[in-house]
This record gives sequence, C-alpha cells and structure tokens, in this order.
Amino acid sequence: MTKFRFRCKNSGKACDYEVNSSSKDEVMDHASAHANRFHDMKDATSVMDLVNRSLEEVEDYND
Ligand SMILES: [Zn+2]
Repeated sequence: MTKFRFRCKNSGKACDYEVNSSSKDEVMDHASAHANRFHDMKDATSVMDLVNRSLEEVEDYND
C-alpha cells in the first residue's frame, strides 16, 4: 500500500513540518493550510507548486 508524505524542507524551506497519510487529498489539505499559515503563501498556484514539489509517494511500512 502506498502512503503519501509531504515534507516542507523538500521545497527548500528551513522547516521541519511533515505530514503523512494514506489519503493524498488529506496530505495536500494539510500541506496547503501549512503553507498558507506558516509561509504566508496566499496564491493558490504557488501553494500547489510547493505541495507538488514536496509530496512523495512512499511504500507503507509497519512501525
Ligand atoms: Zn513549512
């Protein structure tokens, strides 16, 4: 099963925020809200660009 992970630092920001979910929509929602609030990104296109650059698909693992 695939999970989705957003790591803010993948976008080049000095920021340790990350979110994981099996739902891509959920990850994108959280990541977008984070970009809005913490990086003052109000432009939807910029936010989606950041999210798409930093979103990874990862294999699920048991931990
Ligand atoms: Zn961040």
